[in-house]
Amino acid sequence: MDGEAAIALAAIRDRIGSARHRFGGPPAAVELVAVSKTFGEDAIAPFLQAGQRLFGENRVQEAKDKWPGLRERYPDIELHLIGPLQTNKAREAVALFDVIETLDRDKLAGVLASEMDRAGRSLPCFVQVNIGGEPQKAGIAPEDAVDFVRRCRSEHRLNVVGLMCIPPDGVPAGPYFAQLAMLGRRAGVEHLSMGMSGDFEVAIAMGATHVRVGSALFGHRPRLATPNL
Ligand SMILES: *Cc1c(COP(=O)(O)O)cnc(C)c1O
Repeated sequence: MDGEAAIALAAIRDRIGSARHRFGGPPAAVELVAVSKTFGEDAIAPFLQAGQRLFGENRVQEAKDKWPGLRERYPDIELHLIGPLQTNKAREAVALFDVIETLDRDKLAGVLASEMDRAGRSLPCFVQVNIGGEPQKAGIAPEDAVDFVRRCRSEHRLNVVGLMCIPPDGVPAGPYFAQLAMLGRRAGVEHLSMGMSGDFEVAIAMGATHVRVGSALFGHRPRLATPNL
């Protein structure tokens, strides 16, 4: 099992490296966010042993059950929240996570800002953009994204470092990634979190700085575990 994790990790890092090399230009680095949702501590531990430190989880409660124990053993873990956040979970999210990737509305921005003040932590945030304008998906509308980033920074005093998106299923993702990159430039953010197991190389071609890879590392999940996709 430990060997398998190291091999899976090396294979994905290799593909990230060659995509960067092939498509050239910025960014100088692409971070691998290993998406460990639905997998338990036993499945995650080999990836930590193989050197991975950056992980993504989509549910506050699940992260609370899994990560405090792992953090005791590996204090340099960086945990990203990549699933929708309800304001009544903001306090727990600020305590558990290091980066929030799913900031998508003013009410949440206000609550996160006051919870960060209260906890004395200023977490970097990504604004999630509903890049395909899909009614069932979270995220700010593309046409409101630049203004929302500005408000998060100036009114809510949040540290917005990037944009994040989950493009529509079943159609080529490239144009959506390109659109997110354009919005990122207009909003003046440094990072783009885009690309998953099936399309992270395309995302890197379009300028991703963070790719969120789950099943290509950990194997398949039961479908019901991913309602936000
Ligand atoms: C589950 C999930 C991923 C990873 O998806 P895979 O296809 O398994 O790589 C990435 N981003 C978000 C927001 C997710 O919920």
